[in-house]
Amino acid sequence: MSEQLEFILEKYFFHSDFKKGQREIIEDVLKQKDVLALLPTGGGKSLCYQLPGYIFSSPVLIVSPLISLMEDQVQQIKLRGEKKVIALNSTLPFLKRKTLLQQLKNYKYIYASPEILQLDYIQKALISARISLFVVDEAHCISQWGHDFRPDYSKLGDIREKLNSPPCLALTATATKEVLQDIKKILKFEKNSIEHISSIDRPKIAIKLEKFSYLDEKISRVLQLAKTLKGPGMIYCSSRSWTEKLAHYLQENDVSNVAFYHGGMETEQRTLIQHQFIYDQLDIVCCTNAFGMGIDKKNVRYVIHFHFPAQMESYVQEIGRAGRDGMPSVAITLMTESDCDIPKNLIESELPAFDQLHHAVSLLLSNEREEEIAHKCGLTEVQWRYITHQMNKLPNPLHGHEEEIVTVIWVEIEKRRKTKGRRLQQMLEWLNTDKCRREGILSYFEESLTEHPENCCDICGINIKEFEGKEEKVIAANVFQWEEELREIFGQGE
Ligand code: ADP
Ligand code: MG
Repeated sequence: MSEQLEFILEKYFFHSDFKKGQREIIEDVLKQKDVLALLPTGGGKSLCYQLPGYIFSSPVLIVSPLISLMEDQVQQIKLRGEKKVIALNSTLPFLKRKTLLQQLKNYKYIYASPEILQLDYIQKALISARISLFVVDEAHCISQWGHDFRPDYSKLGDIREKLNSPPCLALTATATKEVLQDIKKILKFEKNSIEHISSIDRPKIAIKLEKFSYLDEKISRVLQLAKTLKGPGMIYCSSRSWTEKLAHYLQENDVSNVAFYHGGMETEQRTLIQHQFIYDQLDIVCCTNAFGMGIDKKNVRYVIHFHFPAQMESYVQEIGRAGRDGMPSVAITLMTESDCDIPKNLIESELPAFDQLHHAVSLLLSNEREEEIAHKCGLTEVQWRYITHQMNKLPNPLHGHEEEIVTVIWVEIEKRRKTKGRRLQQMLEWLNTDKCRREGILSYFEESLTEHPENCCDICGINIKEFEGKEEKVIAANVFQWEEELREIFGQGE
């Protein structure tokens, strides 16, 4: 068996050795155990389900949170020569759907979003394809999102049962012990499931925090860093408008090959930016957290947080996009005192206020048209989805008593708000600590640091010069066939 694994690794993936942890995970997957695996960002999680794909005789199903991420994975698999891969999402050409679904069993890898898995005809197609392994990539999303704005995540365990309970592999790079438990519960792991938990630490990423009294100092510093640091780099901002503002500011100040990326852009434009960045045609992307998850760009040399996120999980995910090639890189957070209000407001705005909830419930009970309610109550899409999700969880929502329903849901909202507030508090404590930042991150995940790397953090001391110096731009050898791929993605190829 062991030799067979090495043989497949070499033949289909062109790697000579396993990365740390991969073999153990794959062996347990092949024993058809339910496996929960934590490997650090860039640790090689995809291989843990892709390799077994060559041993199992029926398809592997991979639940993946974002369309862009699925497309990226499908692209990677095709690039290494495997054609039997398909992504089931809203971009699937409608006319081809029926034929494709009838042939599902002929695929090796089937990617799907949690939302599309709710559809009856998709479930039927998957049942007859006899899924061999049920993979949930970026499994922390189950816990992070399933509770609020993507309720379909919390139904994945039921879906798995409907597919005749194939063994499950849940993969993540960032999960606290609490989140790991949550993942196993939601996915309905068997009793004798196995955990492979590696350290989340990325010793080759130096961690730096810089504080400023005023916003304009911070803006000048971003420009300076963009001009001096070795790229490519990513700059995270808290809002769409900031990504645009910063990108323009850098361009106006002679930084070339800069673009912005956020969830408000057209899909086509987003795909374009993502691919230009991956194929080294862009040096810097100013982005919101909509950019980057699971994208395997190997040579990102720095990640700057122009605004820091509301929780440590997100921070670790985001800095983890640096240095996937294993080479040194740096994560720099720039902060002013007033930045602390941004995540606070964000948390507030994600959940509905009490009177909004009250109003929405009473309109729902009086059979007001759903499309009208969100508008009338001034609810964002996320808040609205949260309320409907909570309503659907109630045993008999439309016959309940208004006040009762409001009270029950409000208790949930308060709980969520508290959890989020607690996580933000931990993030702020970390930002304001005078202890090693790496130790701080690890202790959040209930780990301890065994050895400080040479370039550890601003507290332990790092040599920033090592990350400076513009290199001559290397254009990727396989210059990318843009238009062709875009046509394929948007179904205009035929
Ligand atoms: P993540 O754990 O973040 O999902 P990926 O699965 O995207 O990581 O893998 C990160 C990179 O590591 C990819 O470029 C992949 O090709 C590479 N990789 C994975 N396994 C191996 C291996 N055994 N040897 C060398 N490189 C590997
Ligand atoms: Mg991944």
